This record gives sequence, C-alpha cells and structure tokens, in this order.
Amino acid sequence: MIDTTPPVSTLPYPPLHADKKFVALSDWDGTITNRDSNDYMTDNLGFGPEKRRAGNLAILAGKETFRDAFKVMLDSVVANGHSWEECKEVLKKNIILDVGFRNFYDFCKSKDIPVVIISSGMAPLIRAVLSKLIGDDEAEKIEIIANDVEVREDGSWEIKYRHPSSGFGHDKSQAILPYRALPNPPTTFFFGDGVSGNIFDYSSRVRTVLTLSLPFLDMSAARHADLLFVKQKPGADNDLSAFCRREGIPHVQFEDFNRALDLVKRVVDGNITVKEALEVGTA
Ligand SMILES: [Mg+2]
Repeated sequence: MIDTTPPVSTLPYPPLHADKKFVALSDWDGTITNRDSNDYMTDNLGFGPEKRRAGNLAILAGKETFRDAFKVMLDSVVANGHSWEECKEVLKKNIILDVGFRNFYDFCKSKDIPVVIISSGMAPLIRAVLSKLIGDDEAEKIEIIANDVEVREDGSWEIKYRHPSSGFGHDKSQAILPYRALPNPPTTFFFGDGVSGNIFDYSSRVRTVLTLSLPFLDMSAARHADLLFVKQKPGADNDLSAFCRREGIPHVQFEDFNRALDLVKRVVDGNITVKEALEVGTA
C-alpha cells in the first residue's frame, strides 16, 4: 500500500491564497532560470560533472534518494572551500533568467495573482539570483517554498531540507495539494521543466529508467495543477513533456514566460477556459 501521510515540514509554509481566483506556482531551476543553479555550483565549484552524473544515475536507478545524493553534490562545493557568500555571488553572475519572467511577474502582480516559487533548491540562493531581475524589494517579498541553508560562522554551509523524512528532501506536491482540498479552490497554474534539469545529459536507455521511476521532483506537483505548463528547451530532450504525453496528463508546452503569458492572459480575462487552454497545447 502506498503511504499517503504527508511528510512533516521543518520549515513554515506561506499562508494559502484561499481567497484568490488564480495562483501561479513555478519551479525555479530550468524553468525560471535557463540553467540549473545547483548543477552549475556542483560542476564549477564542487566535484564536477562526472560525479554529479554518477549521483544522478544512482538516483534514477533507485540506489540513492534525491535527498541524499543532492546533499553529497552540495557538500562537495563546501569541501572545496567555497563559502555561502561566494556561492551566492557566483550564481548571481552566472545564472540567466527566462526572458519573459519579469513580464509574467508584473502581469500577475497587476491582476492580484500570487506567484509562488516551488523548488528543490535553497530559498536564500533563489532570492539572491532573483533580486537581479526583479530588484531586492520584490525578491524579498516573493513567496518561495523550498529548502533552506544552515550557514556556520566559518562560512561553511549545509542544505537544510524541508522534508527530511522524504526521499525528495522537499516534496513539492505538499505546496499544491492543500489548494485542492479547499471548498472553493483558486485555479492553479504550474510551470515546470523536467523531471530534473540535468537528465539532458543522459542516454535514451537511462531516460527509460527515469520515466519508470517517476513521480520525481516536478511531477509530484505537476499532476495536481489545473493548468500545467511544461517548458520546452530547444535542442534538449524534454522529458516532462514526454512523460505527460505517455501518462495522458494534459499540459501546455511553452518556450518562455512571454509565450506562456499570452495564454495565461486569455484564461485570466475569461476569453478561454482552462480546458480550452489545454486543448491549445502549445503557448
Ligand atoms: Mg526544474
């Protein structure tokens, strides 16, 4: 029997936006950012891409949990002597954000639609990178449901998982399921990219393993949204999209937030229904 007891959260959640008509929830790495920030740190500051891939393979093969393997990757950054402040600065310099996210964010604000970031990464790093795009004030205010960090006096640091008892470290579905339980739930949009940002390196044989081992990361949340947007990256394998097609999960493919925004606007303005938006299929 599948255990459906929600994992205990060590970190607070922002209050549910129960009175809103729409809520936009989005993955961070590979969805709002154009490359995975934690992969970037591991590859450039930590033990490098070879060991990272080996860790991912172990996750996909079910030999290790995401929680444990991901921590080993991050710990390799710390072991190389990179302080928390340095990591923040490196990511602020090197992580590029989706060209349309700022427009999307401004539109949501103007329509009183909360934007909530749901991530397997660490909230303070996300805020740091985001401040570059939307400014310090907005980056401070935006709701982020992610993991946290413990920074020691000597500058060394360690990821602090939201759900230490879950193999995901952060079970993203817990951010969206409470909406479904409301008597009058807002319409939820969810934006995700892939099962994980780094599977693009893998052979097709491994991708097969991966699709069998789902739900994984975004999938756990994506299944529960009213309108699911799946990011398509030119030249990359788009696994979440392939998975959704196989599983018959209705979704809209989008290349960037400007494109998604056009469709979101039509839904928010009442010109089309969620069902009709899903039938469009591509933003
Ligand atoms: Mg992602």
